[in-house]
Amino acid sequence: ALQFETTDQRFHFLNLHKYGREGQLLCHIWGDSNWEEHASLSDEEVVKEVICGLRAMFPRKPGSEIGGEQQDMVPFPALWKVTRWSLDPFALGAYTEFQDPRATEDDRDVYARPEGRILFTGEGAVPGNIGAQCTHGAVLGGASAAIALLSEGVGAARREAQEEESPRIGELLGSGPMSLDVPILVEVLATGRCKGRKRR
Ligand SMILES: Cc1cc2nc3c(=O)[nH]c(=O)nc-3n(C[C@H](O)[C@H](O)[C@H](O)COP(=O)(O)OP(=O)(O)OC[C@H]3O[C@@H](n4cnc5c(N)ncnc54)[C@H](O)[C@@H]3O)c2cc1C
Repeated sequence: ALQFETTDQRFHFLNLHKYGREGQLLCHIWGDSNWEEHASLSDEEVVKEVICGLRAMFPRKPGSEIGGEQQDMVPFPALWKVTRWSLDPFALGAYTEFQDPRATEDDRDVYARPEGRILFTGEGAVPGNIGAQCTHGAVLGGASAAIALLSEGVGAARREAQEEESPRIGELLGSGPMSLDVPILVEVLATGRCKGRKRR
């Protein structure tokens, strides 16, 4: 499985082994589980809690008898790393989340508000229905901001020298989220070219 389900509401397990990182498991602590205690625990104590959570899911080695000598199916990991993004004042967490009851979609509009010539984008600065918190939201927001910059003339001289196959900004626009033509955008991001060139 790519993800391990658990009734322990603190944890979410991603099976990195399935993604090609041999023997690695990623656990993240849900911000809205209100498990504040981890902040005062040492890294090793946090790992112990996580292992307890895993052992609750996988109690013993297959075939070992109930009531017999307990054989842990989940050994204590040989290597581990604990990160604490929620305590980093410059990050304040892994990705944006409406944890405060007063937080709303309007906050995303505030994140996305330009400051003069500086644009802000990323998963936190796109609406929830576009993909806030997620990779696709970050990609769409980034593309939209890049188009806004290029439309303002940034890099215009260089673009004049582009080959015929290179995409033009207008070709990336369409009726999709954030006024993008997503299939064309994906093609351009994946290949750097726009073969499905629009005819006007
Ligand atoms: C554990 C976990 C699981 C997730 N699972 C999923 C999932 O299943 N599906 C999904 O769609 N999304 C998932 N996400 C969310 C997804 O990873 C994010 O939404 C996405 O990466 C956000 O992209 P971004 O470009 O907005 O920000 P980021 O990916 O956070 O990129 C910001 C970049 O800015 C850099 N940076 C920060 N400060 C500075 C600075 N001062 N100077 C220079 N560089 C700086 C950082 O190092 C980072 O590289 C998950 C996230 C986490 C943490």
